[in-house]
Amino acid sequence: MCSKNLIMLSLRGRGTLWPFGLVIFSAAVWLGLFSTRAVAEGHERSAVACSDVAVEILGASPREQELICAAAAQGIEFFRRCKFEISQQIRVAVVEDHLKVCGVDAFGSYSAESRTIELLDLKACSLKASENQAYRSLPPPEFYSSIVVHEVAHAIFRSLVRDTAHTRATHEYVAYAVQISSMRPAVRQQFLSSIQRQPPTDLEPFVDIVFLLGPSKFAAMAYDHYSMPGNGCRILQGLVSGRIEFPRMEEFD
Ligand SMILES: [Zn+2]
Repeated sequence: MCSKNLIMLSLRGRGTLWPFGLVIFSAAVWLGLFSTRAVAEGHERSAVACSDVAVEILGASPREQELICAAAAQGIEFFRRCKFEISQQIRVAVVEDHLKVCGVDAFGSYSAESRTIELLDLKACSLKASENQAYRSLPPPEFYSSIVVHEVAHAIFRSLVRDTAHTRATHEYVAYAVQISSMRPAVRQQFLSSIQRQPPTDLEPFVDIVFLLGPSKFAAMAYDHYSMPGNGCRILQGLVSGRIEFPRMEEFD
């Protein structure tokens, strides 16, 4: 079983999803399993702490540290604007080579068990992004920052809904909403204009299979929905309190 929050699966094949990967993710549950490879590697290098947020970084270059700290602060601030106080320490481990999550290439992932974000380094992330139609035209440092925001959002949201069994799509909706919101308007517009979609009018599209079949489209729709007037913090607070629940696949049987 595989349990990590991850970002942007199916990076290979330019949009072609792997049936095997889909089977794995369809069966995914939140058990908190976690590979310690990158963390162990990170421990061999010195850890640095961000100056203004409770984030510890392992294995990053100075430039990556700068981007990660700034992006983590953005992610934390997003939740604060919705009246959530964030006190947890977040750890980020940067890895140089391929980051595989549940057998699928990923830019980053978050383990709730170890409270650690694993992240490709800037070079590897940029290379991977260049292979992805939805991300290849975005400025690499800004795309990298948005990946950090996405994973930080996973970390914070998981800590806020510890006792609530939300769907994977719910977690990804929040992470993508925070990620896309964090982009500069011009970069965000560039990303959104590259995705063909029908803007959602309710929560019906936000089910696991839609995320698994098209993460980029899911990301754009999550932003569309979250940024609609009357949504935003109302949705986030409703998910945290349990007043709002996203649909589950069995409801469509
Ligand atoms: Zn994610």
